[in-house]
Amino acid sequence: MFIDDLLFPKRCASCDAWGSYLCDLCKQELRYFDFSLCPICDRPTNDGKTHDVCRSPLGLDGFIPIVQYREPASDLMKKIKYARVCDAAREAYSMFSLHWPDFAPSFDALIPVPMHPKKLRVRGFNQAELFAHHLGRLNRTPVLTDALVKIRETASQASLKVDDRKQNLQQGFVCLHKKDVQKKKIGLVDDVATTRTTLSLACEVLKKAGAKEVWGVVLAHSF
Ligand SMILES: [Zn+2]
Ligand SMILES: [Zn+2]
Repeated sequence: MFIDDLLFPKRCASCDAWGSYLCDLCKQELRYFDFSLCPICDRPTNDGKTHDVCRSPLGLDGFIPIVQYREPASDLMKKIKYARVCDAAREAYSMFSLHWPDFAPSFDALIPVPMHPKKLRVRGFNQAELFAHHLGRLNRTPVLTDALVKIRETASQASLKVDDRKQNLQQGFVCLHKKDVQKKKIGLVDDVATTRTTLSLACEVLKKAGAKEVWGVVLAHSF
């Protein structure tokens, strides 16, 4: 399918119209978030911050969803994910980046949720990373792509330095460059989060490494 997209003109991921990966009519159906949800209890918040009662030292401090994960956004995301259309991803992410909400704070750095190298080889590119770069350019925020890595837990212990071995190693997420995250306000970027388990785990690793504040930033989120 991705060969088709290289050889033939673009088609709307939702209605199949020719011309772009999402046609103008379908774009009007996109629903952007002008509010946020508490990353712990899922109830709405106005400022994106985790409710005081929901806070915990190693938990997410806030959450920024961009577009609602339903048709046609979900069609477009599926096309990007399964057909590996990097070109469609660029078109989508530059469009979605423009909807960075007013309540979003400024971050010291953005960190995309890493993909396991094996998965990355299959997928071709990490959507979260590509999206983080779009956001980073637009908001003039550095994007750290090697601060957080995903490795297999069995392989990890052997390949890490003694100091790193001691540090949190959770679900394969490891913070290799602690200095890069220490005392920083981090936006942890993912493409689609149906549950926030991955974000929470990665957040915990960053906080144990010394990050001051960690917010989840998710391109598409169900509501
Ligand atoms: Zn369409
Ligand atoms: Zn809450």
